[in-house]
Amino acid sequence: MTVSYICVTEGYSANEARLDKELLLSMIQDIAPDKLDNAYSARVPRPEDPVLLFDESGKLYVKAQDGRLYFTTAADFPDASHIYLFAINDTWYFLASQTAKCDLPGYEYRGIRELRDLGQGRELFAAFTAYHLWKWYTGNRFCGKCGGINGFHPAERALQCTKCGQLVYPRINPAVIIGVIKGDCLLITRYRTGYAHNALVAGFAEIGETLEETVRREVMEETGVSVRNIRYYKSQPWGMAQDLLMGFYCDAEDDAVIHMDENELKYAEWVRRDDIVLQPNDLSLTNDMMKQFKQNNTAAFA
Ligand SMILES: [Zn+2]
Repeated sequence: MTVSYICVTEGYSANEARLDKELLLSMIQDIAPDKLDNAYSARVPRPEDPVLLFDESGKLYVKAQDGRLYFTTAADFPDASHIYLFAINDTWYFLASQTAKCDLPGYEYRGIRELRDLGQGRELFAAFTAYHLWKWYTGNRFCGKCGGINGFHPAERALQCTKCGQLVYPRINPAVIIGVIKGDCLLITRYRTGYAHNALVAGFAEIGETLEETVRREVMEETGVSVRNIRYYKSQPWGMAQDLLMGFYCDAEDDAVIHMDENELKYAEWVRRDDIVLQPNDLSLTNDMMKQFKQNNTAAFA
């Protein structure tokens, strides 16, 4: 279904994003004192509530201005069937129940990777989290077991087959990010495709393995390095890739030599603490982990 909304007003003006320095130094989920409430409830949008409108390729209809994102609202798309996503403080966020062709001044469809450089604070986190849910809803219109149509469960965040009753819950991909340490060096990588800045070894957990085994396997596969003394650091929801990222530090075996997997990486080197070049912003757990090591904050990684 397409093109059924008529855009009537610009209407919504986002709550003031905090543009202070602290915000700019935060990871994407660090929106305190604002708070995400992801409990599901069958809510109906109020006119002022944001209604996030994605096109079929997953681009979000936003106005990006001065480092802030502005979303369309239920006043722009009056429809009781919008899907409730989550709340941040007393603002309820919804997913538009259909795609639409719109022409609101200053708004355009933007890819989620683009938004990473255009927004910040609670609105950027809302966009990432909404994107994760959009991916799940649009990828589960039909039952994987019998092919029946999935309907909305009335009481929880789940879809249920109208034919066989199978329940589908939101999918979150567990993945690890790994700070491999060798003396005063950290193992820095760059991906062959996609994100162009410095990163760390990372990868998805496979069925049947522990996260510690994922860490060992991913470091070995991508760089040929054996590791020991694996310790958990912290985690991060990363809706852009539907991931839950878990950060670990570990030590390289003393005789470790890098043999880079050229299919996956274009760069993998031991980089001395002072020489580590960080990512352009502080949104990612990867950057946080590189920064802790660069600043020699031993409480984080030792
Ligand atoms: Zn079914």
